[in-house]
Amino acid sequence: MIPRHIQKIKSFLAMDILEKLELRRAAGHPTISFSLGEPDLQPPESVRRACIVALEQDFTKYTATQGLPELREAIANDYLRKYSVIVDPDQILITGGTSPALLLAFSVLLEPGDNVIVSNPHYPCYPAFIEYLRGEPNYVRVHEEDGFQYRPEEIRKKITPKTKAILINSPSNPTGTLLPDDSMKAIADLAGKNLWIVSDEIYHNLVYEGRERSILEFTDRAFVLNGFSKSYAMTGYRLGFVIVPKPFVRTMRILHQNFYISANSFVQKAGIAALQEGEKYLRKTRQIFDERRKVMLEGVKKLGFTVAVEPTGAFYVFANAKHITNDSHKFALDLLEQTDVGVTPGIDFGSGGEGYIRFSYATSVEKIREGLERIGRYVGVS
Ligand code: PMP
Repeated sequence: MIPRHIQKIKSFLAMDILEKLELRRAAGHPTISFSLGEPDLQPPESVRRACIVALEQDFTKYTATQGLPELREAIANDYLRKYSVIVDPDQILITGGTSPALLLAFSVLLEPGDNVIVSNPHYPCYPAFIEYLRGEPNYVRVHEEDGFQYRPEEIRKKITPKTKAILINSPSNPTGTLLPDDSMKAIADLAGKNLWIVSDEIYHNLVYEGRERSILEFTDRAFVLNGFSKSYAMTGYRLGFVIVPKPFVRTMRILHQNFYISANSFVQKAGIAALQEGEKYLRKTRQIFDERRKVMLEGVKKLGFTVAVEPTGAFYVFANAKHITNDSHKFALDLLEQTDVGVTPGIDFGSGGEGYIRFSYATSVEKIREGLERIGRYVGVS
């Protein structure tokens, strides 16, 4: 029999919707996806070239388990340049995406029965990593009027002796909002001897107003997860990293050796190229997403959905749809069938997301306009 704690792990609905959308597309339907957290852009040309050159030069063996020193140095320099924080490259572990890094970070923190503070709504896969390790998500209520970001005092009330980590994600999936600086500082101050902050910084570089802060600017009692999937449009390359507090480096390395051996060698070369390209590419990307953000936000509001706090990061609008539905999954499935437009149901992000719909604007302005028009006809506003 499949172990009970594994059976508890829920399906990732955004991926389910994507599969359904793909089937319809293959059957000739004119599909539009607002459901996917994946940029339609291409990575910098130098990234593709670096990968090809590495393959041509047969740079295809395992690397050291922690990753190529040049890539780790480039990441440390990037964090120094952007956030003025000093990271020792020896604290960096290169992984096949941010997802394995999340699993490894929770692996070194949790005993069975321990808990992790998670906001509700939250990125759908977070509870899966925790439950897989027989830990428990310790959900904290967040409020629409705060852009669904934490109130530190609500976290404080939930902390128990079994709380080993506070998980933060700014800019956030699904909301695209950022944790205000003072909240980030207050959360950093909650870290203690046995309580660590796990900061998922995967949407850094994709901020259109204000600026993002790394948790390392506030505390070094933190694991930082980040990767190349979103800001460099490298989802399928599978490349990420974790900045590990010094007491955990050795154990994380041992786990990575055992479970993954190393990240892909030629893809690590592509990561070095991405960081060298850096700001030039990111500036352009931000311009493109910012334009899309405005079109999506305005369009969604015109259709009667409400957005209490405007998203200023990532590529999502998380809109209140309670005037239309209290069953976001049913709504998303029906919308898909009737209009060939895919959206992500709020329930995918936890019970706190029910009644909301996540619209991803990681697609062209033309498609955003066309998709919104179809939704408008569906909901009777056009
Ligand atoms: N964290 C968040 C918040 C995400 O949205 C995603 C991708 N959807 C990931 C982590 C995982 O990204 P990857 O494994 O591609 O680095």
